[in-house]
Amino acid sequence: MPLQTYRDKRDFARTPEPRGSRTRRGQHPIFVVQKHAARRLHYDFRLELGGVLKSWAIPKQPSRDPGRKRLAVHVEDHPLDYATFEGTIPAGEYGAGTVAIWDAGTWIPEGDPRKGYAAGKLSFALAGRKLSGRWILARMGGRAGEERRDNWLLIKEKDPPAPGGRPARRALPR
Ligand code: MN
Repeated sequence: MPLQTYRDKRDFARTPEPRGSRTRRGQHPIFVVQKHAARRLHYDFRLELGGVLKSWAIPKQPSRDPGRKRLAVHVEDHPLDYATFEGTIPAGEYGAGTVAIWDAGTWIPEGDPRKGYAAGKLSFALAGRKLSGRWILARMGGRAGEERRDNWLLIKEKDPPAPGGRPARRALPR
């Protein structure tokens, strides 16, 4: 049961979060970034893969600057329905606080995303409103990777210049 951990952590009689029933996927896999004002503000980065949303909690806002890596703590799979969830998780419940969609769109994996995910390195392009172009999610090695938490890094990759010398993809101005 890929969503068992997600369900075990939540009381669906109390939280407005989806229990998760949607499994059908669209033409392109989706991504979503949710700004979650929980006890600590963070950004939840989610990629549709294998019928669920693979999820990472990022303590700081994702950066479009290739020089600014972001710690991304791998967390439990979320149901696809979660991609449209916005609302308030009541006090006392897991993740209590407000959830708002910060960015959403589709993602395009480079290579086989299941293999990449299993190996701890995903290369992909995002087509969202705020985030676009090429990105990498990579599991940290060494001491950071040996901690109990499953630490990854979200890194913006340089986009190849388009013919004519202009950037291939440009993020929309805020
Ligand atoms: Mn969260």
